[in-house]
Amino acid sequence: MIVIMQVGATTQQIEAVVARIKEMGLTPHVSEGQERTIIGLVGDDRQEADRDSLSLMEGVERTMRVSHPYKIASREFHPTDTLVPLNGLKVGDKKLVLIAGPCSVESREQLMETAQAVKEAGATALRGGAFKPRTSPYSFQGLGEKGLELLAEAREATGLPVVTEVMEPGLVPLVAKYADVLQIGARNMQNYALLHAAGASQHTVLLKRGMMSTMEELLMAAEYILSHGNHRVMLCERGIRTFETYTRNTFDINAIPVLKQRTHLPVIADPSHATGRWEYVGAAAKAAIAAGADGLIMEVHCSPEKALSDGAQSLRPDKFARLVKEMRRVAEAVDRTI
Ligand code: PEP
Ligand code: MN
Repeated sequence: MIVIMQVGATTQQIEAVVARIKEMGLTPHVSEGQERTIIGLVGDDRQEADRDSLSLMEGVERTMRVSHPYKIASREFHPTDTLVPLNGLKVGDKKLVLIAGPCSVESREQLMETAQAVKEAGATALRGGAFKPRTSPYSFQGLGEKGLELLAEAREATGLPVVTEVMEPGLVPLVAKYADVLQIGARNMQNYALLHAAGASQHTVLLKRGMMSTMEELLMAAEYILSHGNHRVMLCERGIRTFETYTRNTFDINAIPVLKQRTHLPVIADPSHATGRWEYVGAAAKAAIAAGADGLIMEVHCSPEKALSDGAQSLRPDKFARLVKEMRRVAEAVDRTI
């Protein structure tokens, strides 16, 4: 349920509603808009009597039932866009975030060369996995903490904030020590212990949609993080599994406008994992911008043929640089900038 306060409701009236919600054993979530304040109720708020009693309080315009299961993630609770701060940029604002880099951190040379190249091309953040979720236990699993150290070194050299994956709750403090953004991968979207740990860390999180998860499940996963009072959450559409085999996944372009409508959280698109082939990455990236994405995460590698993971979907730096120029024009068409 949400309580919509009247335009011009006083601080005392708002505080009284907040106190009443706490008395009911629920948690109030206050969202101050430009015109009016909205107070969301988190918890089991199905009591009809509670709804009536709140709607009769002074300064309250009306109460409204929220039919979907996520609360803090919903637009109703928080009508204005959440802007997630990232190295001076506000993700969700007019300027798009461009996160680029290799799938995996492989060596100092590989990472430094790629980091410099993506920075020159216009990237605003660096990606690179140190802990890799691989389908096969025999595939390269990442450099672990050594990879995190290299990422920190690359940030030092380029000034780009770092986005990297964390796969287990126990490693959240370690990864958070090095990374600006904790990536929760598709395979871990419903790892609830990890979601709790990432929420409790109060660190910025990039939450990727599970390859077989609905948008509602993605929003419920985000709710776990938000329930810790950590509102620095970006969602990521990275393609879902369908019957199609010519691409690695099927890019769910619909998810972008749908999520933008249902939640206030920024939505990032990952055209690399969504297509699985570098030839299609540009088209999917431009489509994502046109559809309203707040940013992109893309894989770039100086020698994709030698990459230890995801070479087939990695762009060479020159192709990435050319694509950034094209993306700028699309961004401009939808009143955004890169
Ligand atoms: C990745 O970003 O390299 C990755 C493993 O992504 P996903 O979790 O979307 O498969
Ligand atoms: Mn990858």
